[in-house]
Amino acid sequence: MALTHWKKLDNPDYIGAYAFQPGEKKTVTIDRIRREMVNGPDGKREECTVVHFREKEKPLILNATNGKMISRLAGSPYVEDWVGLRIVLGVEKVKAFGDVVDAVRVKNERPAEETNAPALPLCSDCGNVIKAFGEWSAPQIAASTKKRFGALLCMDCGNKRKDAQQNE
Ligand SMILES: [Zn+2]
Repeated sequence: MALTHWKKLDNPDYIGAYAFQPGEKKTVTIDRIRREMVNGPDGKREECTVVHFREKEKPLILNATNGKMISRLAGSPYVEDWVGLRIVLGVEKVKAFGDVVDAVRVKNERPAEETNAPALPLCSDCGNVIKAFGEWSAPQIAASTKKRFGALLCMDCGNKRKDAQQNE
């Protein structure tokens, strides 16, 4: 009897564990979700829910596990609310076909560039985060104190330096 390696069950038209380097994660943006006829590697056609991405990645056939994770991340079970959501894909070992195999999973995490968003500038004098003040945004205050005093300062410390200069 001919044996079928489980990897042969991967469909090259869709993203699968084969598309990832060990430990690699891919951040993708959901573009649309729709029901499609999928040609299985065994020649069978089956209607599946497919998630398409804005990036140049192959679409993902949505299974229940990943569907639940996306609705949790999106805070909504409605696919219309998923459009534009950025998700992180990775590979995890799951039990399938009586064996442990690699499968693409939507990770329970936010994209790195969102969690690593640049921190707000810190004041050189007091060390606190520079906060918006009145009509001034934090970056505006930082830019203006940098120009005037050569240092990033919060509004309080900027005013103190201004007073000090005037009293000189
Ligand atoms: Zn300060």
